[in-house]
Amino acid sequence: MRVIVDMDGVLSDWRKGVLTEFKKKGFTLLPPTHWTSRRIEKWVLPVEERAAAEVVNELMLRPGFWESLELIPGAGEYFTRLHCLLRTDLYIGTVPWWSSPSCAHEKVEWVMKHFCFFDVYKHLIMGHPKWMLDADLLIDDSAEQIIPWAATGRSAIVVDYQYNQAVRENNRRIFRALSWEEIFKIVGDLYRDEQERKV
Ligand SMILES: [Mg+2]
Repeated sequence: MRVIVDMDGVLSDWRKGVLTEFKKKGFTLLPPTHWTSRRIEKWVLPVEERAAAEVVNELMLRPGFWESLELIPGAGEYFTRLHCLLRTDLYIGTVPWWSSPSCAHEKVEWVMKHFCFFDVYKHLIMGHPKWMLDADLLIDDSAEQIIPWAATGRSAIVVDYQYNQAVRENNRRIFRALSWEEIFKIVGDLYRDEQERKV
């Protein structure tokens, strides 16, 4: 079973990096229940939205930002476990901020720093249309990626956020996970099902 794991919002805590900068700049964050847009500048008071968008643009281009991102809670332990389970069938699929000269390189460095066992040269894939990749399962937080992927009849795990509630669960193919522990359990179940079908 070949699996693709997204980076931002799944392995790396992109939003925490941006929200930390928002707090430094003194923006007023709305309560998390209002974080329904993927555009993070909409997570502050409407009167501050334009200034927040400028901060986001500056941050995306700032050298060192992408490499400085923290791990999503549980990602360190459970991505390592996934690697033990799947080995060469585990891939990372991510879309760099192409207008940043350093983002793609920093993403490579980030993966090497946190997951030294992972072969970035053969298993880190960069590009937008993930549905075109030849794999069985996508783990992602973006409706924009999950919806076209699931439309091809393959399984997906949507990592739960306010902004991806439009993705509907489906008992057999689209699963929603609240944590890395849950992600690992779902992958384990799918993996065992596949092994049993092979017998
Ligand atoms: Mg993502």
